[in-house]
Amino acid sequence: MVMGTDTIKSTRLQTKAGRDIVALGIAVAAVIMFVGTGGSVLPQIAQQWAGLGKGPDLLLVNALLLNIALIIFGWRRYRELIEELEQRRVAEETARFLAETDTLTNCLNRRSITPATDALIEQAEKIGNSIAFVMVDLDNFKQVNDFNGHQVGDSVLKATADRISSLLPPGSLLARLGGDEFACVVGFEPGNREKVDILVERLINSASLPIMVEGLALDITISVGIASNDPDTRSTPSVLDAQCLMHHADIAMYHAKKQGKNRHYWFEAAMENELRFRSELEAGIRRGVAEGEFVPYYEQQIDLDTGAIAGFEMLARWNSPQLGIVKPDIFIPVAEDMGIIGALSEQLIEQALQDAKNWDPDLTLSVNISPVQLRDPWFAQKLLKLLVKHSFPPQRLEIEITESCLHENLPLVRSMITSLRNQGVKISLDDFGTGYSSLSQLKSLPFDRLKIDRSFVAAMTRESGESGEKIINAIVSLGNGLSLPITAEGIEDELMLELLRKMGPLKGQGYHYGQPETAGEVGKRLSNIGRLGLPVEEDQTADENPARESRKQTG
Ligand code: C2E
Ligand code: MG
Ligand code: MG
Repeated sequence: MVMGTDTIKSTRLQTKAGRDIVALGIAVAAVIMFVGTGGSVLPQIAQQWAGLGKGPDLLLVNALLLNIALIIFGWRRYRELIEELEQRRVAEETARFLAETDTLTNCLNRRSITPATDALIEQAEKIGNSIAFVMVDLDNFKQVNDFNGHQVGDSVLKATADRISSLLPPGSLLARLGGDEFACVVGFEPGNREKVDILVERLINSASLPIMVEGLALDITISVGIASNDPDTRSTPSVLDAQCLMHHADIAMYHAKKQGKNRHYWFEAAMENELRFRSELEAGIRRGVAEGEFVPYYEQQIDLDTGAIAGFEMLARWNSPQLGIVKPDIFIPVAEDMGIIGALSEQLIEQALQDAKNWDPDLTLSVNISPVQLRDPWFAQKLLKLLVKHSFPPQRLEIEITESCLHENLPLVRSMITSLRNQGVKISLDDFGTGYSSLSQLKSLPFDRLKIDRSFVAAMTRESGESGEKIINAIVSLGNGLSLPITAEGIEDELMLELLRKMGPLKGQGYHYGQPETAGEVGKRLSNIGRLGLPVEEDQTADENPARESRKQTG
């Protein structure tokens, strides 16, 4: 049987024997006195009834009656005390049970798993066994809660705890450490790591079976990290107690998450360094947001027919004092995990709006939006508030979302897109072709533009037999069919540009036109071609804008 608190009953029962003994003492003394007085009174009563004597002394009779009263009192008190003690014992047991148990799943809790694990380690050592501390974390549980409510979330946790518990060998421990995190502790013969692997694989498979709650089939997966005190697997020679094993298992679990979730890893020392780097990165990002170290860079978006700049895509860069210029692929996922992507993005968009206000008002500004931001029901309002604050025309703003957003919560994304479009903001589907958007999604969501992922554009000149070209042609036809204009990403040379030009009126962007630039560099570029707008106040009189006039002449 798996041990929860109900089976780990300690023997800390404290009998309040003192009071019990006093009551018992009174009753015993009364009984002795009863025997003493009764021994002389009762024969006298018997003799009187037989007409042989004059009856007992009245004083002795009174003493006897008093004794009887005392015995009854003592006995009753004794019973009351027994009851009181029982109630107290039950209350203490309940309090301890509650303190050691997770009330939702009836597993042990974070507080009790540490001493229970230490006890199990000691027990296992006596018979020469090793133990494995298995940290289990549900993947994407927050979404289950957000989309289906906490009651459904609770049912998922209970079902998962039951599934894990049913697979653990007898004598194992199971705890819920909080939220969606569980820990199991199992014993195994030294060196027999495979046994733990088999068990954990069974846990992963079992957890991934659909969970039926309120008529919904919920798919949950788990990520697992394992640490052990087994001489074969331990990576540090130091004493491995429960605290240390829990910490190591946590690191391994975190690694499993990073590697794609729904899998397990054994702890290795290198993971600790990785984690240290990660926490330094997190601290750096937090500080960077506070210090304003994140800056917008801009990539030109070109009308391929005319060669004129149509707008810019804002690409985030971190100007880190320690690391130099850091690319978004490094810090965006971390900021998403940290829950500060919204704040970071708002900061960048504000800077971009200020920069773009100085450009020719015909130039658009595209910004990338993380799927995490789209989960915020207030996102559209926040964005519109920024536009109002900076008096930026919504028609000049395009937001780019990736296909992964469409799988998160389609109704929410749809209502967000609709309210932004109602205000004039345009929506592009970025990196098209790399995700799994279905035709019905493309038809039902009101996108304004498709952006072909640069991998397809690169394949055009790389792949033989024109297959790359055919794919782009197919996407362009799809866009035409759905009345969606298209931007091709990642144009790196003249050949790519020529091939794309033949495919219809496209927009394009890529290193062929230059690397992403700072606001200052963009300012110079636009100034050189006469497309830098006038300062904000004068910008209102658009027709008198010499910058735009000169662009019109250059076509
Ligand atoms: P994306 O939106 O698809 O942006 C295009 C990426 O491709 C940029 O990388 C750009 O520098 C790169 N690129 C452009 N032209 C070429 C080319 O010709 N060849 C090659 N090899 N690469 C090219 P970057 O700046 O590293 O951005 C990577 C991704 O990070 C972006 O992909 C976007 O998804 C994300 N991102 C950037 N800024 C932000 C932001 O502010 N917020 C969010 N949520 N994501 C951002
Ligand atoms: Mg983009
Ligand atoms: Mg892209």
